[in-house]
Amino acid sequence: MKRPRLRNNERVTTAPPLEFPGWRHIYSGKVRDLYVPAGTADEAAPTHLLVVASDRVSAFDHVLAPGIPDKGTLLTTLSLWWFDQLAGADGGRCIANHLAADHALVGDEAVELIPDAVRGRAMLVRSLDMQPIECVVRGYLTGSGWAEYRDSGTVCGIPLPAGLNDGDRLPEPLYTPAFKAPMGEHDENITFERSVELVGSDTAEALRELSLEIYRRAAATAEAHGLILADTKFEFGYDADGVLTLADEVLTSDSSRYWDAEAWRTGSTAAERMASFDKQIVRNWLADNWDKQGEPPALPAEIVTRTRDRYAELLRLLTA
Ligand code: ATP
Ligand code: MG
Repeated sequence: MKRPRLRNNERVTTAPPLEFPGWRHIYSGKVRDLYVPAGTADEAAPTHLLVVASDRVSAFDHVLAPGIPDKGTLLTTLSLWWFDQLAGADGGRCIANHLAADHALVGDEAVELIPDAVRGRAMLVRSLDMQPIECVVRGYLTGSGWAEYRDSGTVCGIPLPAGLNDGDRLPEPLYTPAFKAPMGEHDENITFERSVELVGSDTAEALRELSLEIYRRAAATAEAHGLILADTKFEFGYDADGVLTLADEVLTSDSSRYWDAEAWRTGSTAAERMASFDKQIVRNWLADNWDKQGEPPALPAEIVTRTRDRYAELLRLLTA
């Protein structure tokens, strides 16, 4: 595995990473902690990784305090459910994912590999050759896409019809890749042509096709559960057999925007239409209460509770 990149502000974590017998900590992102099997030599490529989701929440590239109770478990449960849907439980073809074959064996010796302390919020995955592209798909116009559209009528340089509003459905889902920037830099929106330069045309095209396919399938599933999947981002990597494989977290409320479909249809204001089950609750509060200078303020208990409740509600709506 290429060692995941560290960024300047990623170490703003509340506690040092846990230690488990059999695993060695190698990296902490803003939200997740990565471990390799303890016996892995320093520069050797590990076969497997333990990806542990914490309760940390990040917005505008800062880790905020306090965390959201149970977030790690809620998001891991949701990722596992989506991996299963995309492997064919939704009736579609099987999309390869990074879960180790033995991840799901409960009550068998394989699951012993997941330490008790993090069971429920850890995934045992195959270590992939990650592609440095955040594969963003947008079915609706909002966030940075809306801001760009308002200024220039485009989203990531792609021209769109005039007259769209914040929260409107796009004529077609758009694939808008971003470059996963190395250490300390912000991810950067790029054109499809730039992604071809970065990873080659075969991979760039495969990333686009897979991302759009997964978005369409997931959006249909979400719709059947009364939800709009407004946008999302995926990460992929090549496995040992050269198969382009869905990795990381998938279709969670950290990596996606989910709205209440009924509220979207009937709401009149942007806030009513985009009643969200995702991190937008935190982003909105922070945008209203912080000038983006220095350290962000602590999240009020009410925002923490509301975010936790909405994350839990999303999981219930999808999986119940
Ligand atoms: P951000 O906080 O912006 O998400 P990040 O993506 O670096 O930063 P995390 O999401 O906390 O941080 O950490 C997860 C890391 O693990 C990512 O770098 C991701 O690319 C990597 N990763 C996920 N799945 C795999 C895999 N199967 N093999 C190798 N690396 C993986
Ligand atoms: Mg990430």
